[in-house]
Amino acid sequence: MKDFLKILRQYASPYKGLMAGSVLLNILSAVFNIFSFAILVPILSILFKVDDTVYEFIPWDSAVALKDKLLNNLYFYVSDFAGTHGAINALLMLSAVMIVFTALKTSCYFGSNAVMIPISTGIVKEIRCRMYNKILSLPIGFFTEERKGDIVARISGDVSEVENSIVASLSMLIKDPILIVIYFGFLIWISPEMMAFTILFAPAFVWLMGLIGKRLKRNSLEAQALWSDTMSQVDETLGGLRVIKAFNAESKMRSRFQDVTDRMRKKVARVSIRQATAHPVSEFLGTVMILVVLCVGGAMIIGGKSLIGGGKFIDAPTFIYFLVILYSVIEPIKELSKATYSVRKGMASMDRINRILDAENPIKDSAQPLKLDGFKDSIRLEDVSFHYENGREILSHVDLEIPRGKMIAIVGESGAGKSTLVDLIPRFWDVTGGRITIDGKDIRDVSVKDLRTLMGNVNQDPILFNDTIFNNIAFGVENATMEQVVAAAKIANAHDFIMEKEEGYNTNIGDRGSKLSGGQRQRLSIARAILKNPPILILDEATASLDTESERLVQDALDRLMGGRTTIAIAHRLSTIKNADEIIVMHEGRIVERGTHEKLIDLGGYYKKLNDMQAL
Ligand code: ADP
Repeated sequence: MKDFLKILRQYASPYKGLMAGSVLLNILSAVFNIFSFAILVPILSILFKVDDTVYEFIPWDSAVALKDKLLNNLYFYVSDFAGTHGAINALLMLSAVMIVFTALKTSCYFGSNAVMIPISTGIVKEIRCRMYNKILSLPIGFFTEERKGDIVARISGDVSEVENSIVASLSMLIKDPILIVIYFGFLIWISPEMMAFTILFAPAFVWLMGLIGKRLKRNSLEAQALWSDTMSQVDETLGGLRVIKAFNAESKMRSRFQDVTDRMRKKVARVSIRQATAHPVSEFLGTVMILVVLCVGGAMIIGGKSLIGGGKFIDAPTFIYFLVILYSVIEPIKELSKATYSVRKGMASMDRINRILDAENPIKDSAQPLKLDGFKDSIRLEDVSFHYENGREILSHVDLEIPRGKMIAIVGESGAGKSTLVDLIPRFWDVTGGRITIDGKDIRDVSVKDLRTLMGNVNQDPILFNDTIFNNIAFGVENATMEQVVAAAKIANAHDFIMEKEEGYNTNIGDRGSKLSGGQRQRLSIARAILKNPPILILDEATASLDTESERLVQDALDRLMGGRTTIAIAHRLSTIKNADEIIVMHEGRIVERGTHEKLIDLGGYYKKLNDMQAL
């Protein structure tokens, strides 16, 4: 319950007014319900002629108890009306009044549900948006720990689960306690003695329902975890279809999927069975409760006196009225028990959602970030060391200066730590030892946004979106015009192939640009970097996966992109970096050689070896 209130505080606070409206409408609906059934008492009296008392009007300001005054005067008005207009007309009149009250009651009921709709839809949207924003703000490192399918499962499945369980129960959780309290209060007012028998049931109710609901949350948590596994498998399968088919691994994948869905089915079935018990158990207990009251009340009426000495006798019509209202309580009790079960189930999903929402973001802006006004001087890595979470050291004591306007190339065998090193500069990860400065300022002291504004990336696998060519090029720039995009594409050697497409710049390039060749994708990502026009460029093996022809076009585009900028380039093919101002050779996380191409060849060390291998 505490967790549930926390969710309400977090998400429902903008809707206080609507909530209050719902509470008010629910109270009204309960009151109208009581009034509409109150009419039953005189109707029954007239029909069964159980009452031959002659009622005298009691003035409203007399000292008689309000309840007695109310009932007496109601009888008085009805018998007076029946006396002058006849019993049938009295019956019709009472029915008409009852219809009016019922209409009022159902309208309030509708209203109370209707005001909940903007609340529930708003909460669900808010949860989704907060999750999405969190995904955008978390560092890249977070997602190497979490599987993509799992994140998708949380933002889709778990949010839907919260929607169907917690949010859908919200109206019941507001409405039912109000109804129960009002009805019970009213019943105590009518007959405290009979209510005493009824209330004996409350502990039994609570105990039994609690017993059944106990393991609901844990089972539900396990079921949702299996849903994550399912989504992860779908994600992996979509990404790996080519390999699965090439290795004839369809049947293996099929049985893996069968296995996980089967386990999930069993868990979900267990949760559902438990949940399904809520309704019949409360219905059963409710009926037993009514029967006990029926026996107690029946004994009272048959005996013609109260069962407890000093208790108050209640007549038959009032007794029936009591039963009707008591029956009205059963429904909210049933709903409430169902809702509490649902909430428990939904809490499991909420926990999974909160695991993302509450995840700590280690890449934080400092409280008062220093101003970073362009890039003027140099980037320096000072005694930088780095290891991934709990892993071995990947970079050890790296010192490097990248002066403005120069091109620094990083080479070395695979796994030497080149990509890790360049990831530290835009703060995709933070150094674990030493520091990186830009124009003398520690990059942890300037805002991440300012820092990244200065940088453009071109990677080995260009990252493109399922959108038009125009939007992919204009991605990093607000309000880019067609002229600017075309100009960037021209510099990137991309304009010609774009114009050959049927819809030119408006062509959709498919998922991750799958409708383009590797070289074309790369040239689009270069055009994107050209349009952003950053002073610092980070190239991560931008031409490594291309054939010679595309490489020439891409390299040509890259050369133009690099013109006048500071470039840090990881290179696979040494031919592409011969002109670099300084070449850094890395080996097992350390810089082992540095210098120009000629100098390093003369040195006859690692670089010479790499160069000779490529010449072969
Ligand atoms: P390079 O770019 O020189 O090929 P990387 O910087 O990609 O090398 O990798 C250096 C080392 O860091 C490798 O041993 C790799 O296994 C490890 N590594 C890379 N990324 C991660 C990660 N996210 N978590 C843990 N280890 C990683």
